[in-house]
Amino acid sequence: MANTIFRVQSHKFSQDNIQTTVVCAKCDEIFSKEFPLDLEGQTIEFKCPVCGAPGEADLPYKSAEEREELEEDFEEVEEEEGEEEFEDDY
Ligand SMILES: [Zn+2]
Repeated sequence: MANTIFRVQSHKFSQDNIQTTVVCAKCDEIFSKEFPLDLEGQTIEFKCPVCGAPGEADLPYKSAEEREELEEDFEEVEEEEGEEEFEDDY
């Protein structure tokens, strides 16, 4: 069984992965690690690259700002579909 010994100090979402800065509670070393976007918000297990101790880290969720960009694209599509209802009503 692994303990949660890795704390994500800072993170940044890129198009391909999650770039994190992680602190190891065992050896107090700070290192950077990249995770696939699929693992967003999940608890993942890995070994410390410095001292080799196994542990878990809680990955962050994408921020609200980053999600808004996607939602705006969907709204534009819905408005275009609504306009067609006024054609040839009579
Ligand atoms: Zn360590």
